[in-house]
Amino acid sequence: MPKEIIFNILVLFSYVVIECLFSFLYSKYKYEIIFAISLLSLFVLYLITPAYKEFFIIPFIIILLVISYNLNEDYKKQKIESSFLPKIEELKKRLEEDSKRRQEIFSQWEDLERDMSKTFNMFYMVEEINKNLSIEKIIKEVYDLIKNTYPNTIKYIGLIKSSKKETTSIIEYPEHKEYVNKLQLNNITKDIVIFGDFNIYVFNFSFNGDELKILIEYEPLKNDIEFLEFVDFIFSKIRLTLRRSILFKEIEELSRIDGLTSLYLRRYIIKKLQEETIRAYRYNTVYSVLMIDIDFFKKINDTYGHLIGDKVLVELSKLFQETIKGKGLISRWGGEEFLILLPYTDKKTAHKIAEELRKKVEDNKFYLDSFVINFTISIGISTFPEDGIDFNQIITVADSMLYEAKKLGRNKVVSSVV
Ligand code: GH3
Ligand code: MG
Ligand code: MG
Repeated sequence: MPKEIIFNILVLFSYVVIECLFSFLYSKYKYEIIFAISLLSLFVLYLITPAYKEFFIIPFIIILLVISYNLNEDYKKQKIESSFLPKIEELKKRLEEDSKRRQEIFSQWEDLERDMSKTFNMFYMVEEINKNLSIEKIIKEVYDLIKNTYPNTIKYIGLIKSSKKETTSIIEYPEHKEYVNKLQLNNITKDIVIFGDFNIYVFNFSFNGDELKILIEYEPLKNDIEFLEFVDFIFSKIRLTLRRSILFKEIEELSRIDGLTSLYLRRYIIKKLQEETIRAYRYNTVYSVLMIDIDFFKKINDTYGHLIGDKVLVELSKLFQETIKGKGLISRWGGEEFLILLPYTDKKTAHKIAEELRKKVEDNKFYLDSFVINFTISIGISTFPEDGIDFNQIITVADSMLYEAKKLGRNKVVSSVV
């Protein structure tokens, strides 16, 4: 082989090696530049080669082929890009919108989940309230539920009976509010009343012919509507329970009351006596008991008949109630005997009260049917703790003092020491 050919092969070989190295090192540049430099350098080698110049034609052709192949690829790529790019852009935009929307939905979902858990919680609490029978407990639990859900908002809750004549509060929590008596409640049909400085929510319902109202005094909020909807929701769910518990209270009250005289029954006053004894013992206070018996009641029955005897008992009970008012609890102990419990009353005061009763009965003429009846009563007094520290002892002493009064000729008030 001629020396020139070997020389050309070596030059070409070193050219290829340098080209590869160059392409590798400058791969970050556009391949057009690399091809141009390759062609140029090959052309320079062609020029400076002394012999067998046609030797360089093959690498020229190869480089040209590579260039044309790349240009073709480029062209195809551009064509694809130009037709797909707008679609890709559009897809990108849609993707962005979708992700935004997804975020919105997610946050709405979170809000919904929070609302749901709040509602479930509320349902659960309302269910708990509905388990109660006692109206006092229901009112207190509703107060607590509102207070826990909207802190510092509710200030008062009251169950009120209103008629044209008067307004009576059945239950109030945490304390009685003076404005209740001043509000013309029977005229209120609206749900919210603004009375002076007070914002009052009113829930109306009727029961056994009575117009009942629940009043809620509340501190105005930013979102009053949500608060009022919440309160409305509670009352709509416990409306039946309210009725049931009011009925229960009435039945309970009836079971304490004597059918003829409307006074408390013996078993109820015994319960009250037990409670009073515990309280007086604990707080070092006093209380007194009056044991009352009608004198010669048999005679009244015999003279006017049993029915008139009954009416005497009713009228006498009224006289007791008018005289005692809030000073004590009056019970029908049995037959024509009565027991009056006077809390926080010492013997001297009890004696005064008993004397007032005795005198009133003595002076009174009972007009019953066509009869005018006059009779007297005897009263025995005992006082805690001087006559006993047990309620049984107190009753026994009152009984024996009554016996003494009878022995002394009746129409008397007797106590151990005055
Ligand atoms: P005193 O107490 O002064 O000794 O004489 P008294 O005549 O009242 O005697 P006692 O207490 O023993 O009699 C009570 C009578 O009262 C007996 C009973 O027939 C009558 N009585 C008891 N409960 C009722 C009642 O609900 N209605 C009527 N009409 N009479 C009753
Ligand atoms: Mg008697
Ligand atoms: Mg009697």
